[in-house]
Amino acid sequence: MSECPTYGLMPVDTAIDILQQAGRKKLPIIEEVSLIAALGRVLAEDVFSAIDVPPQANSAMDGYAVNTADLLGDMPFSVSQRIAAGSQPVHLVQGTIARIFTGAVIPEGANAVVMQEDCQLLDDGRVKILDTVTEQENIRPQGQDIVCGQRILQQGERLNAAAIGLLATIGKPTVHVYRPLKVAFFSTGDELVEAGKPLTIGQIYNSNRSLIHSLLISMGFIAIDGGVIADNLPATLAAFKKASESADVIISTGGVSVGEEDHVKAAIQQCGEIDLWKIAIKPGKPLAFGRVGDVPFIGLPGNPQSVWVTFLVLARQFLINYQGQRHKLLPHAIPVKSSFSIKKAQNRREYLRVRLEATENGLTMTRHVNQSSGVLSSAVWADGLAIIEKGQIIAEGELLPFLSFSSFGVA
Ligand code: AMP
Ligand code: MG
Repeated sequence: MSECPTYGLMPVDTAIDILQQAGRKKLPIIEEVSLIAALGRVLAEDVFSAIDVPPQANSAMDGYAVNTADLLGDMPFSVSQRIAAGSQPVHLVQGTIARIFTGAVIPEGANAVVMQEDCQLLDDGRVKILDTVTEQENIRPQGQDIVCGQRILQQGERLNAAAIGLLATIGKPTVHVYRPLKVAFFSTGDELVEAGKPLTIGQIYNSNRSLIHSLLISMGFIAIDGGVIADNLPATLAAFKKASESADVIISTGGVSVGEEDHVKAAIQQCGEIDLWKIAIKPGKPLAFGRVGDVPFIGLPGNPQSVWVTFLVLARQFLINYQGQRHKLLPHAIPVKSSFSIKKAQNRREYLRVRLEATENGLTMTRHVNQSSGVLSSAVWADGLAIIEKGQIIAEGELLPFLSFSSFGVA
C-alpha cells in the first residue's frame, strides 16, 4: 500500500472539533424517568438539593455520646438514654452520657462520640471512658456531604451509578433526562455474509454490523439495525432516505473510499450533503460527514479495526454531544511507559492497540503484534489505545499517552 501524502490530511483534533461543534446544534427530547431508568442517560436539568445531607449531625461510630466539658468531672458516668439509628434523641442530661449507634442523631448537649472500644461497661451499668476525647470526634456534621440549595449535578452530565446514588441521597424520585438518540446503522459491501450462512470465495462475515450495534447499545443509544446495503446507487439512496424518516443519526460502514464500488457519496449528494474527509488517523483515514435531509450522517471506513478506532475517537464525539452530554467529553489520556520503540515516523497520528502490564519498572504498555486495520483481534486483546503523533519516533521506555477503552465508556 502506498503511503498517502501528509498534505491535505485533516488533523484528528480538527475533525474532533468539527464533530463536537456539529453535535451541539440540537438537543434531543426531554423525558422524566425514575432513577434506575436514568442510569447511563444524560441529565437535562441542573439538580439542586432541598435538604442538608446528612439532615442532622449523626454518629460515625457505635459508642457513647458525651459532652467533653463533663468528662473533666468524676468517672464513671451513668447512661441516661439509648439512641439507635432512626430514633429521636432528647437533650443530654448534664453529667451523663448516652448510648449511641452509627447513624443515630447526636442529642442536643453532646459534642463528641466515644467509640465503644474506648469505654468500659461496669456491672452497675455505668461506663468508664478510657481515652481522651476531643470535641466533634466521631460526629458527622449536618450537611457534611451536601448543603441545602447546593447544585449536586449539572445539565449535560451522563449519569453513572454514583450519580444515581447521589440523586437517591437527596430523596429525588425522578429526574429529567434526554431521550436516547435513535441511531440507524448500515453496513455496505456485496462481499458481506451474515452469521449462520456458509462463505463462498470472496465473501466474508459481516463483523461491523454487530460491532457497531454493540457499541451503540453500550453507549446507551437506541440502535436501529438497517442491515446491509448492496453496492449500488439506488439501494444506497433508498436505505438512507428510509432511515432518515425515523432516526436521529445515521451511521454506515464501508463504501466511503472513492472506488467504483463506493456509492455512499453519490447517494447522499442526492438527498442531503456530504463531505469526504481524509483524516490523519491510523487506522482509519476516510470518513464521511454530512446529512440525509436534516439527519446527521457519519460514514465510517470498512475495515473493522478502523471502525473500532474511528468510532471511539471520532464518531463518539459527535454522538455524545448530540445526545446532550456537555461534561467529560474527551477521554483522559494518561502517560504510560512504552515497552516498544518506533523508528520510522508516520504521516498520520496512530492509535496503537496496547495492553497494560505491571512490571518491576512500573506500569508499561505492550503493543499487539498485528496493528493492521483488518485485524479486530487486537481490540479484544488490548486494554486501550496508545497515541503516536505524526512524525514521532519512540524510544523504548518513553512515556506515551494511553487512552483506556473504559475511558471511552465501552470497555
Ligand atoms: P470499503 O471501505 O467498503 O472498501 O471496505 C474496506 C475493507 O473493509 C474491505 O476489505 C471490506 O471487505 C472490509 N469491510 C467492509 N465492511 C465490512 C464489514 N461490515 N465487516 C467486515 N469487513 C468489512
Ligand atoms: Mg465496500
